[in-house]
Amino acid sequence: MAIHFNHFKLFLYASVLAVTTTGIAQETRPNILVVLCDDLGYADVGFNGSTDIITPELDKLAQNGSIFTSAYVAHPFCGPSRSAIMTGRYPHLTGTAYNLFHNSSQNDDDNMGIPVEETYMAKVLQKAGYYTSAIGKWHLGSAPKFHPNKRGFDNFYGFLGGGHDYFPHEYNKTYDAQMQSGNKNIRDYVFPMEHNGKPANETEYITDGFSREASNDIKIAAKKKQPFFIYLAYNAPHVPLQAKAEDIAKFANIKDKDRRTYAAMVYAVDRGVGKIVETLKETNQLDNTLIVFLSDNGGNFDHGANNYPLKGTKGDTWEGGYRVPMFFHWPKKIKKQQRFDFPVSSLDLYPTFSELAEAKLPEGKKLDGKNIMDDVLQNTEPYKDDFIYSLRYREGYNDVGARLGDWKITRMGNEPWSLHNITKDIGEKKNLAGRYPERLKEMIARTEEWTKSFVKPLWYYSVKDKELWESGQMPNYEATFEVDKLVDSPYHK
Ligand code: CA
Repeated sequence: MAIHFNHFKLFLYASVLAVTTTGIAQETRPNILVVLCDDLGYADVGFNGSTDIITPELDKLAQNGSIFTSAYVAHPFCGPSRSAIMTGRYPHLTGTAYNLFHNSSQNDDDNMGIPVEETYMAKVLQKAGYYTSAIGKWHLGSAPKFHPNKRGFDNFYGFLGGGHDYFPHEYNKTYDAQMQSGNKNIRDYVFPMEHNGKPANETEYITDGFSREASNDIKIAAKKKQPFFIYLAYNAPHVPLQAKAEDIAKFANIKDKDRRTYAAMVYAVDRGVGKIVETLKETNQLDNTLIVFLSDNGGNFDHGANNYPLKGTKGDTWEGGYRVPMFFHWPKKIKKQQRFDFPVSSLDLYPTFSELAEAKLPEGKKLDGKNIMDDVLQNTEPYKDDFIYSLRYREGYNDVGARLGDWKITRMGNEPWSLHNITKDIGEKKNLAGRYPERLKEMIARTEEWTKSFVKPLWYYSVKDKELWESGQMPNYEATFEVDKLVDSPYHK
């Protein structure tokens, strides 16, 4: 027995640390760098078909790794999508499917945040020996108990709210003036940046500031000889549309002013990622760093984004709301020029990362995604018989999207259900509900089943939302999943 145990121990040790000829143990687990953009459209990066926005650095990484053409986030807007990434659970199952909207100390929402009982992936990786850092936008609760440093991040640099202005010399001025005038409800978009709970003296355009901090962290981790998990959550290109003049100048050919500024904001992210890659090379870590790039939701076409060829915009359960550009870059394991067309979810990051880190999950931890690494390496389908869902609470009704293999059902507002072969009809143009009523019915039934485990939201975005839930007019699943009448409706003939 003792021999077996020792062998087992040795095996565990060898799998984490390869002992070199000099006898010095070397880390073999990968570093993990997540680059999350905010409201970046499906078609707003070169590697996904953009013709007007140039993203040479991102394109290089994408082409030297695997591009995911059917990557979904768990919700079509910011807060709940981020909640899903961090918890590995659909936001409806943790009561977090509305945005937290303000981090002023005067706001009721100050006491709201993702429940502390939900162990973040950062915590799991931290416990497995990773140096963990969150940079940029948080949006997961601003009260002390929800702070990144309390939820598994050794380091935090950025802001706690849902968005931010970009030029420190401007927003600092606004903030100071507001403080002096005694305003107790200052808009969080002008709060100073913070570093581990203390105000930071940021001087750069904040996208550049975040890239700089990520580079610093990579160096810190290299010195510590720890693998790292860096969650770099740029707020770009989320509104306000503010870009550096030198970046805007690169896009003089774009006529539309919003699109031009938006393009410059995306380009600033690209520049930053280029510098980060340089730092990874300098510290000899590029080969064994898994870089995951994605957006937290679809682009907002009212603010310069382009989701072509997808239908819909940020907030929708049409593909344009929650199907996002994504790639994995990991030279040590992932071959160049890969394209992964099977559907995957941002919910898969948690189980995939914890497996790569050989981390132990908390007892009873529930995860809604899958460890997709083997599928990515072998080009096999992770979600064979399983759905990838999206549901957005609206005022009195729900928008729903649910994908199973080649098929997707969508319900937007009071429009009837539609059914699309999403592989052939990526733009959701041809409704096949009338042709395949049984398939539609079955998919609706399975999606309704999914909602049976939802919990009541812990907060609401508006007073009206709260009233609708308290008066029983929400969630109104009965109307959402009503099917017989709809299948027979003239819309489906
Ligand atoms: Ca967003």
